Order: sequence, then C-alpha cells, then structure tokens
Amino acid sequence: MQPVNVPLGARSYAIHIGKGPLARVGQECRKLALGRRCAVISDRNVAPIYSPAVLQSLRAAGFEPHLIVVPAGETAKCLKNVQACYDQLASHRLERQSFIVALGGGVVGDLAGFVAATYLRGVAFVQMPTTLLAQVDSSVGGKVGVNLPAGKNLVGAFHQPRLVLCDLNAFGTLPEREFRAGLAEVIKYGIIYDAPFFVRLERDLGKLLRRETRCLGEVVARCCEIKTEVVGQDETESGLRAILNFGHTVGHALEAISRYGQYLHGEAIAIGQVAAARLSAAQLGLPAADVERIRLLFHQCGLPTSVRLTPAQRTKLLAAMRLDKKVSDGEIKFVLAECLGKVRWGQAVPAALLHSVVDHLSPNS
Ligand code: ADP
Ligand code: ZN
Repeated sequence: MQPVNVPLGARSYAIHIGKGPLARVGQECRKLALGRRCAVISDRNVAPIYSPAVLQSLRAAGFEPHLIVVPAGETAKCLKNVQACYDQLASHRLERQSFIVALGGGVVGDLAGFVAATYLRGVAFVQMPTTLLAQVDSSVGGKVGVNLPAGKNLVGAFHQPRLVLCDLNAFGTLPEREFRAGLAEVIKYGIIYDAPFFVRLERDLGKLLRRETRCLGEVVARCCEIKTEVVGQDETESGLRAILNFGHTVGHALEAISRYGQYLHGEAIAIGQVAAARLSAAQLGLPAADVERIRLLFHQCGLPTSVRLTPAQRTKLLAAMRLDKKVSDGEIKFVLAECLGKVRWGQAVPAALLHSVVDHLSPNS
C-alpha cells in the first residue's frame, strides 16, 4: 500500500500502513540518516509480543537499540515514567543523533514522544502504533504529552515523528474492547469530513469487525489522510483542527467524572458524538435520520451510545465540560454537524439545550 505522506516542509514524513512493517523498522530507519544508538519504548503488554522482532530488525540494520519498558494503561502517562525514561536514556548514553521508537498504543506514543521532544532538547522520534486508536489518531499530528493529577494531557509539546509504521498485524492481539473503541475515532472522520467514507463504514462494518486486513488497511489510510489534511492546514490548533474534537467535549467530561476508569476514550466519545449529533440537529438542522444513522453505527460497533446519570452526576458532567481546555471566555464551544461530512467549529449552544441533551443521554429517554 502506498504510504500516506505528511507534508510539513523540512519536517515532512511518511506513514507506512500494511502487514508487517514492524519487522522492517530497521531498513526504514536506515533511510533517515539517524544515529546508531536508539531506545525502543514500549509497555508491559506490548513489549513481550512485539519488541523481539523490532529489536532484531534494528540490530540487523546496524543500530544499537535499548529496550525501555513502562507500565501499561493511562496512568502510565505520567511524569514519574518520563523521569524513569530519561534516566535510562542517560545511562545508555543516548546522544543528540540518537532516536526513540515508540512501540505501543496511544499511551506509549504520547509518553515516548514527550520524552523524545524534551531529552537533549529533542531527539528524532519514530512511531509504531499498535492499537487502532493510535494508528488513526494519536500517531498523526505531532501532539505528545503526559497527564498531571489535575487532568489529562496538561503537559506536552508538538514534536513530529520522522516516520510512522502502522502494522495491521498488530490488531491480531489487540483486545476486542480496545479495537471497538478505536472505531469510534474512525467513524468520527466520516462525520466531520467525508460522507462517502461514513457510508463505506456502514457498508463494510462486518468486514471491519472481523478485522479483515485489506479493508482495515484502506480505512486506516483514509483516516490518516484526513487527519493529515486537517492538521496540515492548521498545525497548532487555531481553527480547523478543532473539528477533530467532534464529540470530545461531552466525551472528555464523561471520562473526567468517571475518573478515567469506567470508559475507554473511544467509548466516551461514542456517547459524546451522539450527544453532539443531537445538538447539531437542534442548532444546525442535521436531519433526524442522520442522527439515527450515527447512533446506529456506534451501536453496531458495540459502543455505548447512552449513559445513565444521577442528577448529581449530570451536574458534575456540565461542570466538567466548563473545565475543558477548549473553553474560551467561559463559554463552551462545540463542533456541530450541518450534514454528514461537514461540520462547523466554535458553535455556542444555549444552556437550556445542552441541559436537555444531557438529560436525554440516559437509555430510556
Ligand atoms: P490507546 O492506544 O487506546 O490510547 P493504550 O496505549 O492504553 O491505548 O493501549 C490500550 C491497551 O492495549 C494497553 O493495555 C496496551 O498495553 C494494550 N495493547 C496495545 N497494543 C496492543 C496490541 N497490538 N496487542 C495487545 N495489546 C495491546
Ligand atoms: Zn479522541
């Protein structure tokens, strides 16, 4: 499959998507004129499965890789683990020409990317995303960072990778729930940017859920293309890039009030996107039939589309939305859809409407 090129002038890079690029990482890195020494950062679940082939490929290509294993899960994305990585990089004497390979899901990508952005004021970075979510979302765009006890992604940087290798074979070991959660970001691209792609997802959902490689490869590539186009027009998030946050205001708030335990990110934004679709119907006239198509597609992916909230939790949810990073001047701004494939950002929503949509998030209303 043709790589997706991310045109960023001197910092342009390629996203290779296919079966097995993980075991060819050494050859690909050889083309980039990087130093010999490198570190592969991975987590405790992914490292045992995939790091042997990656290390072997790097060694065969003449590199000197060191493996750094961090704990798995969102809580691993913290400054303590950043520090632990720095210490190991220093002890292995990584230098300015050295590079860091992130092997894992979004957590590893964000953490290793942040380490790469800051160690010695920045070293080269190669992404090998192993979850669907990371392949279609977090590995494109250059945002890296970690969480603080006060909130998610509060410390970070923009640091573009030199290369991204999306290995479709990695889905072979990905837990079902993680895979389905990734589909929530995939569907988002159809809603915000590409109506024919949304229709394709409706049509090919069976193939996707069976993880048919060919179909998945095309879908991952299209998502990477869309994210690249959006980010390329707005690298530092002043305008257009905001459309990638469709469904995320409610989604992030749900994650925050459930203390990041109950929902995976993809599950929270599935609920958030259904809420955003309902707001869109009221504010921008998104047809009711399309709101239902959106809800149904998430539902058919086995993703939640409703949530039972107590009155106290509703109040907390609304408060959490006001704390979202994207809030400016105290007013919550939403990304809303005019029709499938076309959204507008920076949309204010009357408080009464927002309350009513939140009230109707529960399954029976
Ligand atoms: P995300 O990519 O959704 O941000 P994480 O980085 O937390 O999420 O990865 C989700 C979970 O799946 C973690 O426990 C991680 O160790 C595990 N994981 C990631 N990729 C794979 C894979 N290809 N096979 C098996 N488990 C994986
Ligand atoms: Zn997201």
